[in-house]
Amino acid sequence: MSGPPTGRPPESGREGSPGSAGSRCLVVAIDGSAGSGKSTTAAAAAARLGFRHLDSGAIYRAVTRALLDAGLSGAALDAVTPDELAALAVDVRWTEQDMQVRTGGKPVPEQALRSERVTAAVSQVAAIPAVRAHLLELQRTAARGPGLVAEGRDMGTVVFPEAEVKVFLDAHPRERARRRLLQRGIRPDDAEIEAEAVLLTRRDQRDASRSVAPFLQAGDAVLLDTTALDPAAQTDAIVRLVEAARGSG
Ligand code: C5P
Repeated sequence: MSGPPTGRPPESGREGSPGSAGSRCLVVAIDGSAGSGKSTTAAAAAARLGFRHLDSGAIYRAVTRALLDAGLSGAALDAVTPDELAALAVDVRWTEQDMQVRTGGKPVPEQALRSERVTAAVSQVAAIPAVRAHLLELQRTAARGPGLVAEGRDMGTVVFPEAEVKVFLDAHPRERARRRLLQRGIRPDDAEIEAEAVLLTRRDQRDASRSVAPFLQAGDAVLLDTTALDPAAQTDAIVRLVEAARGSG
């Protein structure tokens, strides 16, 4: 693609604009399909580099949970207003490089973010233009300090279109499904892998077909197929790209 699908976004509130001369925060934008290894790789790369790690999916999940807890579903969910979103008080707290997402002043437990009911509804919530607009600045303000590894579906296209390093992770759906199930402590058989692969592919398709900030590879992102790569090799590849960007900057 040749730029963010929704046009050039407004300036972020961070120190220096991304990729500009004098920028103090180097941004690594990692986008990719569900189960492609984004979270593990982004966390490991951020730790190696001493950068912050922004898990934007966790923010969409926290909003989804809060809206479901407020009793919204179906058409009422799609019609959520900016005021209703503001009332959720979605926030991100940083401890060194690690983020904690909060709603209503309280941290959202990891388990609640990953629950089946949240996973089933998050793509619907993430497709709502008011939700995406509401979360844009919160994600951009994460870019503080020496660097940020930001992972999600629209990091390189919309949130950080001028990131110094952009990576797009993908892997075969069956391999992605296998990893997801192993993460949940399941030793999956073929049928379980197939069923999970269908769910992951469906979520990717929903994310790719939405009208605002659809999930797609930025034209200037480096494609990394992780099907046959272990997490250490993925992390090495990303750290090398950052070193190359530093060398050329
Ligand atoms: O990465 P994770 O699986 O936690 O993301 C959950 C969902 O959040 C995605 O399927 C997508 O619908 C939404 N999302 C998004 N944009 C992002 C990150 C996540 O739409 N930048």
